[in-house]
Amino acid sequence: MHLWRIAAGVLPTKESICRFLPNLDISCPFCNACPESVVHIFWECDLARALWMGIIGIRTDYFQLTSASDLVEVVVFPNAEVVDELLNSDIFTLKGTLILDLLWKTRNSKVYDERPVEIRGIMNSFRSLWSDHSSILKVPGFISHISLGAEGWTRPNCGVIKINCDAAVGSLFSSIAAVARDWRGKLVFALSKKVNTVIPLQAEAEAILWVGQLSISHGFSNVIIESDCKACVDAVNALGNCPWLIQSVMVAIVDVLSDLIFWKLCWVRRSANRAPHVFAKWSQLHLSWVH
Ligand SMILES: [Zn+2]
Repeated sequence: MHLWRIAAGVLPTKESICRFLPNLDISCPFCNACPESVVHIFWECDLARALWMGIIGIRTDYFQLTSASDLVEVVVFPNAEVVDELLNSDIFTLKGTLILDLLWKTRNSKVYDERPVEIRGIMNSFRSLWSDHSSILKVPGFISHISLGAEGWTRPNCGVIKINCDAAVGSLFSSIAAVARDWRGKLVFALSKKVNTVIPLQAEAEAILWVGQLSISHGFSNVIIESDCKACVDAVNALGNCPWLIQSVMVAIVDVLSDLIFWKLCWVRRSANRAPHVFAKWSQLHLSWVH
């Protein structure tokens, strides 16, 4: 694999081959601003920074690397600073390896075929690679475990959008609401919608499905979804038997979420889910939906 060529120092970057070709232009093919070393092209260059941030949510400039072996070490043995509650280290290593592969392929097609570098295309390639590779880890995204304790809403990690959802059930129809905030705690959107069910479990499941659809339509890639409906969260995370009432919605939820690069569905107490709770109630009371 590509990672082991980096570790062995045999990757033919311009900086390494200029020992044999002294007149070679060694500038980075992406930014033309720095010599093309392993650390630059995979960690420091703007394109690399954008991918690490966009895919894993880490800012590479917080971690100074000095050599190719530093890079390999970070990817293979990520420490607690890099891998936080959002990721486990296997996911980090797999995603990191795919980022390195993609950067090298993109670099080669720029250098040899003069293909333009297009970040959207790279992200799309990542998505399809990730859906092929993530089955190795046998996790459906990520299982929510210790989110039981939070009494109030907490900010997600850098680069992650957290979306809380809830439902208010009426006698003829129900209202669902979704409130998205970013890692600074800033509101991204607050939306509500009428749904044609009066069964609480179904309405809550519809809310989670809607959050998944909104994540896709807003172009989010790293999303934490919070719901105060434990039966729905357990059903998605396959911890319990899925109640038949919500089976078809569950299939749709898993299908939508699988298009995200990273997602995690957590059960939270109602006190940590106040914003959509109040908003869904407000929509139901005023017969007014914002979407
Ligand atoms: Zn560069």
